[in-house]
Amino acid sequence: MFNDEKKEKVIKVCRELVKVKSYSGCESKIVNALKQIFKENNFDNIFVDNYGNIIGHIRGNKKGKKILMDAHIDTVPVIDEAKWKHNPFSADIEGERIYGRGTSDMKGALSAMICGASNFAQATNKEFAGDIYVAGVVHEECFEGVASRKISERLNPDYVIIGEASQCNLKIGQRGRAEIVVETYGKPAHSANPDEGINAVYKMSKLINEIKDMEMTHDEELGGGILELVDIKSSPYPGASVVPDYCKATYDRRLLVGETKSEVIEPILNIINKIKKEDKGFNAKAYYAKGEERCYTGEIISDERFFPAWKFTSEEEFIEKSFKALKDVGIDCEITYYSFCTNGSHYAGEKGIKTIGFGPSAENLAHTIDEYIEIEQLVKATKGYEAMAKSLLEE
Ligand SMILES: [Zn+2]
Repeated sequence: MFNDEKKEKVIKVCRELVKVKSYSGCESKIVNALKQIFKENNFDNIFVDNYGNIIGHIRGNKKGKKILMDAHIDTVPVIDEAKWKHNPFSADIEGERIYGRGTSDMKGALSAMICGASNFAQATNKEFAGDIYVAGVVHEECFEGVASRKISERLNPDYVIIGEASQCNLKIGQRGRAEIVVETYGKPAHSANPDEGINAVYKMSKLINEIKDMEMTHDEELGGGILELVDIKSSPYPGASVVPDYCKATYDRRLLVGETKSEVIEPILNIINKIKKEDKGFNAKAYYAKGEERCYTGEIISDERFFPAWKFTSEEEFIEKSFKALKDVGIDCEITYYSFCTNGSHYAGEKGIKTIGFGPSAENLAHTIDEYIEIEQLVKATKGYEAMAKSLLEE
C-alpha cells in the first residue's frame, strides 16, 4: 500500500537532496548526504568508488538477478539566481510542486529510486532473489556514460533502469552523440597582401559546405543522424589586419544504433582528402573532441566524446515485464525513446546490458529557471520503481 507516510518520505528525501548544491565535479557534499539517506532507508551496504560515485545496495535473501537503478547526482549550475522565483537550493513546496535545481534532473528520480527500493525491501522483508543497487553517479551533465563505466565494471548488473525524466513513460532507446572537431591550417600574411598567405577561414568554409552536402544516416524510431555545426573560431582573433592561419569548427553528431567511431568520422576524412587533391593549399584535420574532467576525489576521467546509441524492441521480455508491472500499479505509460543522451549510452550502448528508462517529470523542465517536480510524478515514480524491481526479480 502506498500511504501518506511513504509519500512524505519521498518528498523529504527529494528536498534534502535539492538543498545540497552539487555541480559537476563538486558532488562530495551530496555523497555525504546520501550515505545518511541510504542508512535511514535500511540499505545493507553503501560504497563510494574512486570517481566518487555512491552506490546503495539492498540484498535479497536469495541469489538472483542484479538490478541497477542509475541517477546522476550532478546538476547544471544556476546561472542567474535573481531570475528564480524560488531559491534554487531551498526546495520550496508550492502548489503540489517542489522547486529547485535538480528536482527534475534528477534528484527527484534518485529519491524515488531510493524510496521505491526501500519500500520493496520492506514489503517483502527481503524475501526475494537478487540484488538492487541504487547508484548516484557523478559527472553526467557534460560527460554522460563515462563515470558509470566504473559502476558496471564493479556490479555487472543484469538490468539497468535509467531514471532520467520520462514523465513516467518507458524509454527503450536513445540516439547517442559525438563531438567532431575539424581544423584547417593556412599561412599568415598581412591582409593588405592576402595573396602572400593562405586564409584558413576560406578553406574552412569550403570544407563546411561539402560537409553540409553529406548524406546522413536515419533510423525510423530514433530519427536522423544529425551533423550540426555548433561553433567556429579563427586565429589570430581578433584578426587585426592578418590573414588567419588557423580555423577550428566543432560539430555535434547524433549517433544511431551500430554506428562506430571509425564509420562516423570516415566520410569527413574522405571529403578532406578529396579537397586536398583538388587544392594543393588545403590542409585540414578531423578528430573526436577529447573530454577531461576532474572528479571531486581528485581522479581524472578522460576520453573521446563519443557516446553510442542504443535501442531495444518492445517485445523484449524485460521490457514487457516492466511495462505490465507499471500498468498493474496504475501507471498509464507509453513506450517511447529518449530524445537526449543518458548514461544508457554506456550501459546499453557500450556494454549491451538490458537497459530501460523510466523517471518522473518532463524532460523539458531540466536545466530551466524555476525547475520543479510535481509531487504526483514523484509518487508515481516511487511506485513504479518498486513495481519494476518486483517484476524483474521474480523467479
Ligand atoms: Zn540528467
